[in-house]
Amino acid sequence: MAQVECIGHILIFPYPAQGHVNSMLKLAHLLDLANFHITFFVSSTIHARLLALTDVDSGRFSPRFRLKSFPPGIYDGGIDSREGALELYHSLHTIAKPFLKQYIAHNRDSGLPFTCFISDLVLSIALEVSEQCFNLPVYYFRTIGACAFWAFFSLPDLFEAGELPIKENGMESPITKVKGMEDFLRARDLPSWCRYEEDDTARIVYTETRRAVEARALILNTFEDLEGPILSQIRTKCPKVYTIGPLHARLMATLASKSTHSNSLWQEDETCMAWLDSQEPKSVIYVSFGSISVITRQQLMEFWYGLVNSGKKFLWVMRSDLVAGKDVESPIPSELEEGTKANGYIIGWAPQEAVLDHPAVGGFLTHSGWNSTLESIAAGVPMICWPFFADQQTNSRFVGEVWKLGLDMKDVCDRSSVEKLIRELMEKRKGEFLERAENMVKLAKEAISEGGSSYCNFDCLIQDIIKLNESMSEEDTVKCAD
Ligand code: UDP
Repeated sequence: MAQVECIGHILIFPYPAQGHVNSMLKLAHLLDLANFHITFFVSSTIHARLLALTDVDSGRFSPRFRLKSFPPGIYDGGIDSREGALELYHSLHTIAKPFLKQYIAHNRDSGLPFTCFISDLVLSIALEVSEQCFNLPVYYFRTIGACAFWAFFSLPDLFEAGELPIKENGMESPITKVKGMEDFLRARDLPSWCRYEEDDTARIVYTETRRAVEARALILNTFEDLEGPILSQIRTKCPKVYTIGPLHARLMATLASKSTHSNSLWQEDETCMAWLDSQEPKSVIYVSFGSISVITRQQLMEFWYGLVNSGKKFLWVMRSDLVAGKDVESPIPSELEEGTKANGYIIGWAPQEAVLDHPAVGGFLTHSGWNSTLESIAAGVPMICWPFFADQQTNSRFVGEVWKLGLDMKDVCDRSSVEKLIRELMEKRKGEFLERAENMVKLAKEAISEGGSSYCNFDCLIQDIIKLNESMSEEDTVKCAD
């Protein structure tokens, strides 16, 4: 067996949810292509779904990549509610943390010790494990944008200044203590958790976020031309920030391919691509609320009427678990069925990157998850934003007010507003939005091309890990079998 020098062994730990796993697998793929060894940890449920639905275990990666599962028991219910999110957080601490500690310690004697740990949202686990395991260097990869990261980071300042908790009827109140956002941020643009008093989630999220200063570096899936001013603010607290996005576009360029490999945890319905092929350029509005959001039957109906009444073609991802409540199965009014037959196409899960890249797609009605936002930006597709929770409220404010790449309809959900906004995006102001979206595509492409900011930052990150590996003590420097 050929002996090749090991340039580094990286432990990657995404938060167990679709968007996080998706972008961290893309990072893992790029690091694999850069010749690192990678051990990628997911919950047992996600492990099974990735094996069943993707090629993650069959030819995509080199043999240096290993997909590993935590022991069963990590919460795998809905995380659209605070209770669900907290349950997941605690189960990661009780199951993943001790397991990782043992694994890293055991791995140290295995001949292929870890060089570093790349952790997602729950940074405290990585930092505490690292402290007990030979100070393994930790990088913090937050799969959200710089704008939401900085809003999370700033939350304690808002409490101190009395801008939080949000006052009764205070959703329009200006928020002045998030530096760099003084001119446009309102209470309603803060993460959803700020809306509830005595909520542990906001405290947990800002505590985790603030610990970023203890990481060796912060890695963000964004690019300098998109979020430069906010990144400057973040760098006053976390000097080493690698912006390396849009990762999916960088991966596509590296693979010289028109698509990346699917990391979907649901079966993708490819039939929508043929339907899109039969539509006029930029005529279709794509609708998806991501992998976590759950809406009420009432909201479903308002969106549905709005879409049908707009008269525009639409492709809608209606996950089997999208709608909550007892009356999910109630009959659909015949005018909606007819309108959908004429203008719509409904599927359970889409190959989203390919859909957004399709020439027929001219708009995206989105929940403003960061991956969806970035995928839309990289594809030059203007957005209508209906943020649901977490970082989405801040992302949508940036889309509507800062980048002006779409319309922010947060906290509104009635059929006439939906119809009006669709007409505005797809008809009245179409040219204006498309022009700005195309300009941003150019900047995104420049960022990931040779010499661009994300391209160079990724190289710097690689060099940093290689140096770490070289500086490991003599006994840890090993030759690994390929
Ligand atoms: N996605 C997909 N097909 C769908 C809907 C979503 O592949 O039908 C992918 C999408 O491309 C994105 C991820 O799922 O990468 C969702 O992540 P995001 O951060 O946008 O939202 P979340 O699901 O975390 O709320």
